[in-house]
Amino acid sequence: MAGYTPMMQQYLQIKSDYQDAFVFFRLGDFYEMFFEDALKASQELEITLTGREGGGNERIPMCGVPYHSAQNYIDRLVEKGYKVAICEQVEDPRTAKGVVKREVVQVISPGTLMDQTGLEEKENNFISSVTNFEDGTYGLAFTDLSTGESHVTLISSWQEVIAEVYARESKEIVIDPDFSLEKLNEMQERRPITVSHQVGAELHEEYELLVQDLQQDKLITTFARLAHYLGGTQKRSLDHLQPVQLYQINQFMKIDLFSKRNLELTETIRSKGRKGSLLWLLDQTVTAMGGRMLKQWIDRPLLSKEAIESRLDMVMTFINQFFEREELRELLKEVYDLERLAGRVAFGNVNARDLIQLKRSLERVPGIVEVVNRLHHPYAEKLVDQIDPCERLTNLLDRGLKEEAPISIKEGNIMKDGYHEQLDVYRDASRNGKTWIAALEKQERERTGIRSLKVGYNKVFGYYIEVTKANLHLLPEGMYERKQTLTNAERYITPDLKEKEALILEAEEKIVQLEYDLFIQLREEVRTYIPRLQALAKIISELDVLQCFAKISEERHYTRPSFSDQGEIKLTNGRHPVVEKVMNSQEYVPNDCRMSDDRSILLITGPNMSGKSTYMRQVALTSILAQIGCFVPADEATLPIFDQVFTRIGAADDLISGQSTFMVEMLETKNAVTNATQSSLILLDEIGRGTSTYDGMALAQAIIEYIHEHIGAKTLFSTHYHEMTSMDQHLPGVHNVHVSAIEQSGKLVFLHKIKEGAADKSYGIHVAELADLPKPLIERARVILHDLEQPEVAKPVLAVKYEEERPAVVKEEPVKVEQTEEVASVPSSDDQQLSFFTDAKKNDGPLKGKEKQIIDKLKGLDILDMTPLEALNTLYELQKTMKKKS
Ligand code: ADP
Ligand code: MG
Repeated sequence: MAGYTPMMQQYLQIKSDYQDAFVFFRLGDFYEMFFEDALKASQELEITLTGREGGGNERIPMCGVPYHSAQNYIDRLVEKGYKVAICEQVEDPRTAKGVVKREVVQVISPGTLMDQTGLEEKENNFISSVTNFEDGTYGLAFTDLSTGESHVTLISSWQEVIAEVYARESKEIVIDPDFSLEKLNEMQERRPITVSHQVGAELHEEYELLVQDLQQDKLITTFARLAHYLGGTQKRSLDHLQPVQLYQINQFMKIDLFSKRNLELTETIRSKGRKGSLLWLLDQTVTAMGGRMLKQWIDRPLLSKEAIESRLDMVMTFINQFFEREELRELLKEVYDLERLAGRVAFGNVNARDLIQLKRSLERVPGIVEVVNRLHHPYAEKLVDQIDPCERLTNLLDRGLKEEAPISIKEGNIMKDGYHEQLDVYRDASRNGKTWIAALEKQERERTGIRSLKVGYNKVFGYYIEVTKANLHLLPEGMYERKQTLTNAERYITPDLKEKEALILEAEEKIVQLEYDLFIQLREEVRTYIPRLQALAKIISELDVLQCFAKISEERHYTRPSFSDQGEIKLTNGRHPVVEKVMNSQEYVPNDCRMSDDRSILLITGPNMSGKSTYMRQVALTSILAQIGCFVPADEATLPIFDQVFTRIGAADDLISGQSTFMVEMLETKNAVTNATQSSLILLDEIGRGTSTYDGMALAQAIIEYIHEHIGAKTLFSTHYHEMTSMDQHLPGVHNVHVSAIEQSGKLVFLHKIKEGAADKSYGIHVAELADLPKPLIERARVILHDLEQPEVAKPVLAVKYEEERPAVVKEEPVKVEQTEEVASVPSSDDQQLSFFTDAKKNDGPLKGKEKQIIDKLKGLDILDMTPLEALNTLYELQKTMKKKS
């Protein structure tokens, strides 16, 4: 550091403690950044890069932002995942000797945002922390600093940790500096997350109360790391942190990452936005707190039948009592975000307007209690019993704060008259003075006869009497003391005026100071109410979500689900909640679903766009809705309580993620088949399509068999491979259903209706016919199809019938259009083979020994008797033999 000026040395000293953050270094009215920070920030924020002499050999790169508009820049950096350390001058520059003392007063990071502009109203902002213990287990803690809530749990597998962090949409994770990089990368692949380091530490005394209920040391250690980080970066007391809640991941229905995404529970796959998601459909909450709770509920559906039924009971009550519900909604609309407000009170970030909103919110509470009591429902009464309306606080705020208080707390005009005696005295003084001055104008006009004479005020000269030049002749010489000359007026003062002015100004200065002090006192008083406000917020959120469920259920004609202990699914006229809403309910075709332990796998066939995926998702979404305690889109619904839901989409169908490969498809499938239990729900949507027909089909079949034999989970499997529909013959739990389509005035119309049995096989040809392909061609196709279906020919070839869906297959299957016509008229048993190997024959002359060998081998195969692996091996052998030839 030698050579640098003392200030730069100070900067470098501070920066060395905040390597991973942009240091906003306060210099006068600016926050400046230097060196690397400056280079990077000037790019990220598109601000001008300058330089300054700092005593080193070269100019130091520098850039800065004005302190009054810094928030916007901070928000932008934090949104990009960076951290910002705010470094302030901590002594008065006027009295400082040498370099002004500076310190970092707060680090703002994606996980510690408190500012309203950076936060989504209806979303939590969780920061997480993970500790890897020696026995291989993980402690995981989450805190939402803006609301003060914390959760902690122990997890045995890293995959589940990733899933949890992802589910909470945590934007920042705090770990030990030695934490495995490999694991971290695995997490980062799912979703970018800001990483912060914090060496483990003892829990600070201040937080001991928060972990009182946690029995295990591991849990406390896990939370301690997070608390330590928060304390160290925020550098203030975090009074609003609530007791840490212990949870178990197996308390809730598990919905892993892929399934959350595929089912579009809280955001859509395409736009990553809320619109079009289940959350979007459901969100009829009217408070921000309720909105956040709704999202939490969707993320973790319940497993306890009792808890689910209790929510459903309340939903039913709210449906039956429409007037109470509407009244409650109106009241709730005026309830402000008490949780975040409590957080900002603790941070010292509230102004008078916030407290006015708090007061208005609290004023609604007695009304809320009254309405909820009218529901005459035991659970509702229990909730209401816990409500603490904080009346004393409401009164205090009402007595203290003016309704139209300004945003600033440093300019007075906040507190009401009559709240504080001394304040009233000052105000009287100021008012009297002003009245005297107002009277003065009238009096002097009469005295001088100058009707345009006026008394004014400006910051520099204070109060003055102004006379226009045109009227100066009317003013007796020496009557007032001249103070200022303008182009067309003169300004004067008098000793009396100045005396009054002094009184007024003094009073006003005192008023501003006193109001500020009184406001701070009031804010400190509110601080003591933080836990009570948080408890109130929880109850209000719950009421809000339950009324929201009732409203949606009523509006969209949902029905109350009942739960089967026998693993039965019985949905009558079920609908996909979001598709139904988006497409206008009249057009949506409802469908039934019947499953049970001996009808546990449904194989769904049908053309593209017929509604297979929609049908499968509708079953999953219905189960999730039921388990969060909402009514469901069906006329009648019986469901098991599912422990987990898995949704997998074949890579070929998964157009959205782009980078999705067959490997990913298989990894996801592996995750499903290894974790599912008999009580799980699995949706496999066109699995196997990501690879070539043969092994895709082999895998698909093997997967089904595996689920059937080893898991017994309820499974919906949509498939493109018609061949698989024969599986019902040897696997009793497998049943075929299909989605039908009909022809209507030359057009193909999808009925979107699920029916028993497999889809019509010659469907592809039918489409070709509708598309008006030449008649002979269609005829020929029928012949080929017929021939291919003969048992002696390898079955997989049948995949060709869906060629209009899969252009890729056309290439693989050498059924050439121009050849069709030549041979169409003479269908013979030879044709089957000829058509199958047309290209080979054409190019290489008559069948050679090897080819014949291959065909003989193919003919001799008993596909149904082979395991998928054997099929694969055989295929591999055949191909090898073929390749050797050339
Ligand atoms: P598939 O998976 O068979 O290709 P999708 O499930 O993706 O078909 O459905 C295709 C489209 O058909 C959907 O976007 C939707 O607009 C419509 N659709 C699906 N199911 C229904 C239904 N039951 N009623 C009305 N329209 C439906
Ligand atoms: Mg589909």
